[in-house]
Amino acid sequence: MKYYWIVALFSISVASAQTTSERNVFIITTDGFRWQEVFSGADPDLLSDINRVADTALCKQLFDAPTPEERRRKLLPFFWSVLAAKGQLNGNQNYQNKVQVANPYKISYPGYQEMLTGKANSRLSPNLPINNPQTTVLEYIQSLEGYTGKVAAFSSWNIIPYIINEKKAGIPVNSGYEMLVEEGDTLNALINQVQQSIQPAAATRNDMLTYSAARNYIEKSHPKVLFLGFGETDEYAHKNQYDGYLQKAHQFDQFVADLWYYVQTDPFYKNNTTFIITTDHGRGKYARSWNSHGFWVRGSGDIWSAMIGPDLQPSGESKTNETRLLQHTAATVLQMLGIRTTSNPALSTLTLKRDANITPIPAAEIQILGNKIPQQNK
Ligand SMILES: [Zn+2]
Repeated sequence: MKYYWIVALFSISVASAQTTSERNVFIITTDGFRWQEVFSGADPDLLSDINRVADTALCKQLFDAPTPEERRRKLLPFFWSVLAAKGQLNGNQNYQNKVQVANPYKISYPGYQEMLTGKANSRLSPNLPINNPQTTVLEYIQSLEGYTGKVAAFSSWNIIPYIINEKKAGIPVNSGYEMLVEEGDTLNALINQVQQSIQPAAATRNDMLTYSAARNYIEKSHPKVLFLGFGETDEYAHKNQYDGYLQKAHQFDQFVADLWYYVQTDPFYKNNTTFIITTDHGRGKYARSWNSHGFWVRGSGDIWSAMIGPDLQPSGESKTNETRLLQHTAATVLQMLGIRTTSNPALSTLTLKRDANITPIPAAEIQILGNKIPQQNK
């Protein structure tokens, strides 16, 4: 299969000594959210299905409209106002524009593994608490001078610490119903109280708690690189509750909007921060299979990505015949930070060590999820 790589356009006449840039990157995900809803909004057939929507009349008032453009705007207002105007959205297969996972399994662990290591693993990693043998881009960045202690992760799903390999990586990861460090922090103490009251604690934390904890950490610690993973879209889909799935997707859009507003009004982050927004896998493409995903479920490998940031071409919705892969995320993170690596395809293996030479690589060798604005110096 032929893929059409999108290559970077920036100048490579950049000094190589610098390892820390002013740039910051947030990777933001919501688990198992389909490209179909991103680009067409709520599915009219599923919205009318009384077996999947508890109150079809009310749900239609919230999310239904005559056209896909109106429906997607109702479901994801931030995506289709700010991201569409100032960022990029990839994966609308109605235009043959695709984002796909490269791993064959189309479940969460291999998805996040591919996203964060830059390379799909052909060996199946089940969704279990097993430490990832591959180094993630987060661990690599954390090892670089100037970034140590400036990388963090928050997630709703409690397996993410194993995919990041938290202890080996030396990165703080707060996941599932794991308690937060209080140390006089009244908001964290409050969140902990709520977390303790939820029994039994499921594998996926309520996304609102994940967001509150992450937002508090961002304001206090100002990480330069953050992974923020939400999980309830997948949970509601597995329960075959289309209304809950839509509500969680809508809430996800609100989180991204709130965080972008915060970032753009904080001097540390303003006009210096890129959001890379995506998902770990798709779901079934038919009404009968939308709730499921995996190796045997058609459509599960089809996903989407969105980006917004100071170095990106504000090209909006991509309508060209191209394919991007989830594993390009890791390379994209490095590129948006301005970290150059020498090996090719450097970013697919991330085998570089702390003392590796950070020098520019030819622009044509970099595969990224978006198009970059030509840069003279950064
Ligand atoms: Zn799932």
